[in-house]
Amino acid sequence: MILASGVHQDLAHRSSWQPLREILAAADRTKTAVGHFNASELIALKGIAAAALELNVPVIVGASEKERAFAGVRQLAALVQSIRKEHDVPIFLNADHTYSLRSALEAARAGFDAIGFDASALPFEDNVRETKRAVEALKEINPAILVEGEIGNIGTGSRIHQCEPQEARVLTSVVEASQFVKATGVDLLAPAVGNMHGLTPEMVTGHKEKRLDIKRIAAIKSATGAYMTLHGGSATNEADFIAAIRAGITVIHINTELRVALRRGLVAGLAQEEGDVTPYVILQPAVEAVREVVRTRLQLFQSVATSAEATA
Ligand SMILES: [Zn+2]
Repeated sequence: MILASGVHQDLAHRSSWQPLREILAAADRTKTAVGHFNASELIALKGIAAAALELNVPVIVGASEKERAFAGVRQLAALVQSIRKEHDVPIFLNADHTYSLRSALEAARAGFDAIGFDASALPFEDNVRETKRAVEALKEINPAILVEGEIGNIGTGSRIHQCEPQEARVLTSVVEASQFVKATGVDLLAPAVGNMHGLTPEMVTGHKEKRLDIKRIAAIKSATGAYMTLHGGSATNEADFIAAIRAGITVIHINTELRVALRRGLVAGLAQEEGDVTPYVILQPAVEAVREVVRTRLQLFQSVATSAEATA
C-alpha cells in the first residue's frame, strides 16, 4: 500500500509538465519551436535554466560528446534532473552529436531524454543502417527516449571559422529525407537547409546572417511528417527563423552565440575588480550574458504562434 501510494504521488508530481514528445507535438501544432542550448559546465546551465524559468517555457539542454566528457555524463544528467525536480519545470537533456553507439547508450543509461545520433559523415546507406541500429538499441533501454538522425552536411564545430565551410552548401534532398525517416524510425530529423555550425567573424560582429532554404524545409516536412531540428542556428536571420518554424522546424539549436556571450561575460567578470578571486562574483556576469542570449532566442521562438495566428 505504501509503495502504491508513493508511486501514485510520484506520477501526480510529474504530471504538472508534459514529456518531451508531447511538448514537441504541441510546438508542431502551435507553430512554435523549442530552444536547444548547449552546456558543458554550470555557468551555461545556470544561464539557460534561469531564462527558461523566467519565461516559463520548455527548454532542451544539449551536450555533445566533448561537452559531456568535460561535464561528466552522469553529473550533467543529475544537474538537469535536479533543476527539473526542484522547480517542477520541463527542462530536458539531449546528447547532441553523438557519433558512436557506445556513447549514445551511455547517455541513455544516464537518463538523457533524447539522443542526437550523428552518422551523417557516412555514405547515405551506411548512415541509414547505423542510425536504425542506434534507434533500436536506444529504445530498448528507454522506450520513451527520442532519437534524432542527421543527413546532409552543415560543417562541424561550434566556434569561429575564418570562412564558411564549403561542405555546408550540400543540402538535404527531399527524397533522401523521406527514405531516411521511413527506414530508420527516427523521431526527429536534422536536415541541412542552409544552416551551418559555428560562426564566421562577420557573423560575430553582426555584419552577416545565415539564410535558410524555407521551401526545402516545407517540402521535407510535407514528405516526412517528422519533427525537424535546425542545427547551427546562431546568427540566423530572424525572419528566416520565423519562416522556418512555420514551415516545420520544431527544435532550434543555439550554441556558438552562447559561447561568444560566455567568453565576453568571463572577460567582463575578470575585469570587475583587480585581484578579486571570488569565483561566484567573477563568474556571475558570464551567467547573465548566457541568460540574456537564451531569453532573447526563447522569446523569438515562442513568438511565432502569435504572428501566425494574426495572419491566419
Ligand atoms: Zn549541431
